Amino acid sequence: MDSLPDVLQRNLSTIRQRIERACRRSNRSADDVTLVAVTKYAEWDWVCALSEQHAIFGESRPQQLADRQPQLPRVQWHLIGQLQRNKARTAIRHAQVIHSVDSLKLLQRIHQLTAETEDRIELLLQVNVSGEASKSGFSPQELLDNWPQIAAFSSDRVRLSGLMTMAPKSESSEETRPIFAALRQLQRELNDQGACGELTELSMGMSRDFEAAVEEGATLIRIGSSLFEGLQRPDTSITEKT
Ligand SMILES: *Cc1c(COP(=O)(O)O)cnc(C)c1O
Repeated sequence: MDSLPDVLQRNLSTIRQRIERACRRSNRSADDVTLVAVTKYAEWDWVCALSEQHAIFGESRPQQLADRQPQLPRVQWHLIGQLQRNKARTAIRHAQVIHSVDSLKLLQRIHQLTAETEDRIELLLQVNVSGEASKSGFSPQELLDNWPQIAAFSSDRVRLSGLMTMAPKSESSEETRPIFAALRQLQRELNDQGACGELTELSMGMSRDFEAAVEEGATLIRIGSSLFEGLQRPDTSITEKT
């Protein structure tokens, strides 16, 4: 049986090859695409083993981020999941990048907290490109109409560096491609307004659709399940019986 480090190394190298091929198809450099390893469903020993091979992790819950980050402080931790305002302090303390800033109120709260604590943070604004009611995030129009006010929240402590989106679940990544292209177009239009420093990051693409996202300009891809494929969870049903 393959060891845990072997499985992780094989999965990582498969993903990196797929990123490289997608970059070649779209005339991009693979150096411009950062893999955020999403550890939200990963067992702790998987996370530790992965930290020997990769240094950028994403968690979706602030509490799990706060539990794990201090134990692996050399990893760069990103928060990718929904953030309630009352957890903003935790997120700022433990994350270097928050991908999921989905409202003006949350942005205000983060801005206020960094002013009090002198912490620094990099933020991405989550955009609900598809307009699904179940998804959170700014609407593209909301950002376009209010960009000077929103961009004014960037400071030397709060760096508004880009946009993030989640594509709707679909059968093929080709169906999600227009969502990624639309996020990139929105980035261009906001940068053309020129209100804050340039938005350079596009966080888009997960296990099922990251190649299309890379071809459409993703600079951060968030991958969980493909990375941990083939690993067995401890069988809790047996230990419970004994
Ligand atoms: C879980 C999650 C991912 C990773 O999804 P996989 O399909 O496991 O690759 C990416 N982004 C967000 C916001 C997530 O919550």
